[in-house]
Formats: sequence, structure tokens, C-alpha cells
Amino acid sequence: MSFNVSTNNSQAGFGRTSTSGGRLAPQQQAGQPQRVSQSQTINAPERVPTTTADSLEALQAWHDRSQPVDDNRVRWPESALANLALFTDWPATMDDRAKAQWQRVINRACADWQGAGLGRINLGVSSLARQSDITLQWQTQTVEGRDYEVGHAKRRVSTGGQITHVTITLIETPLIDATLSTADIERRQLATLLHELGHALGLEHSQHSHDVMFHQGWRNVVLSPGDLAALKQLYPTIQSAAGA
Ligand SMILES: [Zn+2]
Repeated sequence: MSFNVSTNNSQAGFGRTSTSGGRLAPQQQAGQPQRVSQSQTINAPERVPTTTADSLEALQAWHDRSQPVDDNRVRWPESALANLALFTDWPATMDDRAKAQWQRVINRACADWQGAGLGRINLGVSSLARQSDITLQWQTQTVEGRDYEVGHAKRRVSTGGQITHVTITLIETPLIDATLSTADIERRQLATLLHELGHALGLEHSQHSHDVMFHQGWRNVVLSPGDLAALKQLYPTIQSAAGA
């Protein structure tokens, strides 16, 4: 476990999944052996060193996608996955132009993950917060000391490891946006929401810089083969839907 190196990098890091929503949360059974958890990439260094034995061991642990699904991972039950309701909790202060832009981003991100689900994932709209599975909300300021943050996802998980609700919080005007063009801001928003929706579906961070689920960055707006593989590994019925 060589990834528990704190990073104070202030640029464009993705929001981290809260540990209270991840699988290091209380649902972890007492007495079970500690396992290498993708949640522990939360504090991964920006660049993975490739010279020490420790880091090579860790890389091999992450990179082998043929490994069986880790049953400690949290996921939606199949029935819920097929009928996920998304509630958008618009801030009262957000203007119509900004809402329209976010709506485009939401539509695209939902369509992309739904497409990746090959019929097993459906993301619909809910008009009632309490009937939703995923709530989208915005916040104007980052948490003190996390000014690199652009968003985060907090998963509520049953004792059986099933996700019961996810709240995605998006930062309205993260620091990184000050350095971006208008077009790049929408791209950044899409990258952020794709990433947070990945967490909402149960995915953890990737160490591959081209993945939407890469632990840091904002440029990936297309689900990569690695993202799709991670999704199929978490939900094997998607694999069977693909006929693979
Ligand atoms: Zn993340």
C-alpha cells in the first residue's frame, strides 16, 4: 500500500469519493483482512513513481483487469440499476444560461453511462428528491484546504454493500475554471459529471490518465475502454449483454 501519500496539489483534482460512502466505511466487516482498496487511491500522488518495488507491486495490483470482482465493492442491485432516478436540485441563484449548459452536460453524461450499460443501466429523471436514487446538487465553495476540488460523490450503502442513494455535489465555480475558456469550462463540467456518475455507479479511481475515472484531471470526456471494463467487472450482467 504505497499510495497513501498525501498530495497538496492545487490543480484540477477531481473531488474524491467520501470515505463514508466508499467501502472503507462502517460496512467493512470487523475481523476481515484488510484488502487493497481502490478507495485508498484517494490520496494518490499526482505521478506514480515507477522505480521502487513498492510502486511496481501496487501497479500490478491495479492494472490487472482480469482479476475477479472484489466482492467488497459496493454496487447497485441489478433492479435498481435498471431504473435509476436522478433528481436535479438546482440552486436558486443559478441563472438560466448556466442551467441550460449544465442540462446539456447532464444529458450527455447520463446518455454515455447508459450506453455503456448496454441496456442494464437506465438513468431517468425524478422530480421528487425523496424518490430519487441520485441527487445532483451544487455548492459555491470548496471545503477549506481542498480548493482543487470540482465535485464529489457521497454514496449511501446498506450493510450488504448495496448502494441505496448517491449525492453528487458539483462546485459551481471551481478555481480551475478561471484558467479555462467558455468552451473548455463546459468540457470540464462534462468530465467532472462523467467522473462523479462513475462513482455513483460504484466505480473507484483508475490509475490510467486517459480514463474518466482517473483520480485527477478534467480532460477526459469520453468513456475509455478501461472505464467500460471496470463497469463490466462491477456488473457482470453487462458483460453478458455484450455477448462476451
Ligand atoms: Zn473521484
